[in-house]
Amino acid sequence: MVLLRFAPSPTGPLHLGGLRMALYNHLFARKHAGKWLLRIEDTDASRSVPGSLEGIRNALEWAGLRYDFGPGREGPHGPYFQSERLDLYKSYAGKLLDSGNAYRCFCSQDTLAEIKGKLARSGSSASYDRRCLHLTEEEVARKVRAGEKHVVRFNNTAAPTRPSATDLIFGRPRDTHASLATDPIILKTDQFPTYHLASVADDHEMGITHVLRGEEWLPSLPLHLDLYASLKIPAPHFGHMPILLNPDGSKMSKRHGDVQVVDFIKRGWEPEGVLNWLVLSGWGVSHEAPAPDGSSQARSPSIVPDSTRIMTMDEMVDQFDLSAITHRNTVLEAAKLEYINKHHVMRRASTRTGLEELAQKVHEHIKEAFPNSPHTTLDMIKKAISILEGRLTNIYDIPFHAPYLFQEPDLTSTVAKAMREKIASENYDLVIKTVKATLEGQSEDWDDIDFLTLLHKEREGLDLSTKAFMTPLRYALTGMKDGPAIADVMDALGRERTLARLR
Ligand code: GLU
Repeated sequence: MVLLRFAPSPTGPLHLGGLRMALYNHLFARKHAGKWLLRIEDTDASRSVPGSLEGIRNALEWAGLRYDFGPGREGPHGPYFQSERLDLYKSYAGKLLDSGNAYRCFCSQDTLAEIKGKLARSGSSASYDRRCLHLTEEEVARKVRAGEKHVVRFNNTAAPTRPSATDLIFGRPRDTHASLATDPIILKTDQFPTYHLASVADDHEMGITHVLRGEEWLPSLPLHLDLYASLKIPAPHFGHMPILLNPDGSKMSKRHGDVQVVDFIKRGWEPEGVLNWLVLSGWGVSHEAPAPDGSSQARSPSIVPDSTRIMTMDEMVDQFDLSAITHRNTVLEAAKLEYINKHHVMRRASTRTGLEELAQKVHEHIKEAFPNSPHTTLDMIKKAISILEGRLTNIYDIPFHAPYLFQEPDLTSTVAKAMREKIASENYDLVIKTVKATLEGQSEDWDDIDFLTLLHKEREGLDLSTKAFMTPLRYALTGMKDGPAIADVMDALGRERTLARLR
């Protein structure tokens, strides 16, 4: 069974890039009838931000990305906080020390800076001259006994030969960690592991079969594979997701402001809409990648969804295919979210329960927008959603699109005034009076009136163009230039309010 993990560091609120990683892990796991766990990588206390875990969990819950194991959902691989697994990392470091694949380094920060400077002056890009690798066993033992501060470094010179790196998305990436520090540190002076050791130890101990993580970790892959080989344990399959960019080409993770999931929650976007938007970022270009079992047999290009395909979570799981993920950087376009979200709203609004849920969701927001209105009922909100169908990119936009359902139309606005000026006075009086009289004469239930047919007949009776007939009504009932069909507005407003406005 496949087992994946989403492994955020608790360094602040979850941002879109993190949510996207969780989503890809979720989809891959579900697609292969597997599971995924949430692991909190909190070994760098200086970067931890209190409250992050809660934010991450809330964001995942909002998105409907339910991890199978993790904080609050105990399982066989716990604990799920790296800070509670320090002994494990020490024992892994111990194994590497024993086999000569790691060594203790006692150099101080000052000494290291000096060494680095010297190396640079001699034209070397190395960050360390490996002097501690050459300490004798006795020297090391003496220093340890004396309690000298030290780190543990991976011994690159002793790395065993191993199969070359493959990646489920990048195919065959550069297989060298020359770009990383010389003999990278795996255990710090405070005995906390660095990311490299901790993730390798945990992924192995937890039985992770597939690691899907951000492209920023691709340069570390060769080192990780060397660690697996040195520890004589099998490596999981790796897939690195391309970096998300802002429309201006800058890295999204570097942007401040509206890239946090919580901002999208507050703004009222549909969770599935946001996921649909994220999943399509970078999905849509077929390329050949190794099969998920890691074999080099290339897969046939898969069916590639168009970049605005509307999908529910089930459909995303069904369609998900790593081989259709681009390895190019991808840009998140805000306009695409609007389009996608609108369709998710429409889809949800088309069922009774979906409509009810949408109304519940936006209720507080509407009450805040119209604090003194007696009309901010769930019933009116449902009517608003229904009649605004196809216009609402986000249900939180209801106050913008149809304020007149909750308060009197603002006939003093510039738009309303301009509208009024364009309507010929004689038409205005005629239309309003006629329609008012007809409606006043209706004895049937308001809900049973077929306003569309009624208005059509009235217009024919007055022999006016649709525009000449509808504009006065739209002005009087809404004070707005555009909006849903007037028949729908009358229906939603009800008898009293419609007639009051016409009067
Ligand atoms: N803690 C790492 C991060 O937040 C996770 C990387 C990984 O998935 O291995 O970037």
